[in-house]
Amino acid sequence: MQYFPLFLDLTGRRVVVAGGGATAAAKLRLVLRTPAEVHVLAAAPCAEIAAWAAEGRLVLHRRSIAAGDARGAALVYAASGEAGEDARAAALARADGALVNVVDDLALSDVLTPAIVDRGPVTVAIGTSGTGPVLARRIKAAMEETLPAGLGALAAAAGAFRAAAEALPQGRARRDLWAEWYDSAGPRALAAGGEAALPAALAGLLARHLGAAPRPGRVDLVGAGPGDPDLLTLRARRLLDAADVVIHDRLVPQPILELARREATLLAVGKEGFGPSVPQAEINRLMVEHARAGAQVVRLKSGDPGIFGRLDEEIAALDAAGVEWAVVPGITAAAAAAAAVGQGLTQRGRNSALRLLTGHDVAGFAEHDWRALARPGEVAAIYMGRRAARFLQGRLIMHGADPETPVAVVENASQPGQRIRAATLAGLPEAAAATEGPAVILYGIVLRRAGAVADAATLPGRAVPAPKAASA
Ligand code: SAH
Repeated sequence: MQYFPLFLDLTGRRVVVAGGGATAAAKLRLVLRTPAEVHVLAAAPCAEIAAWAAEGRLVLHRRSIAAGDARGAALVYAASGEAGEDARAAALARADGALVNVVDDLALSDVLTPAIVDRGPVTVAIGTSGTGPVLARRIKAAMEETLPAGLGALAAAAGAFRAAAEALPQGRARRDLWAEWYDSAGPRALAAGGEAALPAALAGLLARHLGAAPRPGRVDLVGAGPGDPDLLTLRARRLLDAADVVIHDRLVPQPILELARREATLLAVGKEGFGPSVPQAEINRLMVEHARAGAQVVRLKSGDPGIFGRLDEEIAALDAAGVEWAVVPGITAAAAAAAAVGQGLTQRGRNSALRLLTGHDVAGFAEHDWRALARPGEVAAIYMGRRAARFLQGRLIMHGADPETPVAVVENASQPGQRIRAATLAGLPEAAAATEGPAVILYGIVLRRAGAVADAATLPGRAVPAPKAASA
């Protein structure tokens, strides 16, 4: 993050704009929305700027910027529209110790003006570090659609009510109040009675929350999907957004963890390949302990929690401790891998059943019904199969499988490092050994485009994720 976003209070501060043409006027339209004391330095200001000066909205100096003009200024815009003059203004301003923005010149600027969605007092600032103004405007358009026009009124009423809301204990009790305010109670009150109805609605809401018993802790066992945040369910996103504690598998990648509430406690557990792991009993203990302390716990597991996720052991522990729980399904690695190779996991005339196998289990390499699997046309998705690949190959061929049976090894399915290796049963151990990240072996499945190596990052149709309506 080369550019650090923050919100600057311009009350009583000076903002200097060097320039008097259309470029300066455009910046001034924004700056004049703030309470700053605005000074414009322009030998020949345009009519619009002269009119603002006549209205007393800014102080106009009919000359170009000189040394000392920027002293003590919070911010200086070099906005003459002329590169040489802007560079001169920037140098003067910097010598005066001010932060400078040179319009349309990233290299000369200390600060960049974001694209802004204004729902006063709620302000959304969008920055692309100068790399994509068009992108910033597209995000802005998406945000404008998402943030209801009444949001400003709800936020203003909430701001005036903050002190009263301190009657509720800090933390989740207060968060619950505000979540209900922005999600349902506020919009309802606004629709029914307009802005005037908001203070009374807030007082009613607070009274109800003060009378309510504290919400007990609970655990949601949530599927995080194969790794691409776009493939999370809406419920998973919502729960991550509300969680006090997130206990996650190490396989869950950072972009998904970043969707958790910033104040949430993140605990990494589970295995990393064959590396060190947190024992299951310890994971169970952590879940129970946090839920008993009243926390909303998300137990975040890769893929679907019910597939090779030791789900039942965790549920049994929660039941034994009397902790409320629910399971939220996710997209399992096999589904993501099949999507990557462009094939169905079932196909009329080929296979009407699909096996999900694990390459190893508690006892080591896992035994399966090899004779059944070795028959032509069988399809299986094999999880945790890297080390077991040679063992699998040996067992299958021993039971009569054709060494030419197609296999596809899909590594990091749905993630930027996605790699697909097409092979046959004969070449499976080599194809599996070449993987580094988590990989699923699709046994009995041919790539739709033989030899195609798809890279998830270049897949078409990846849009900017739709922003969520503000709830805090
Ligand atoms: N519950 C998970 C599976 C957990 S077991 C699910 O439903 O997907 C862990 C194994 O899942 C890994 O060893 C690997 O075989 C597979 N896996 C998980 N994420 C994967 C991914 N993004 N790409 C390929 N395989 C993955």
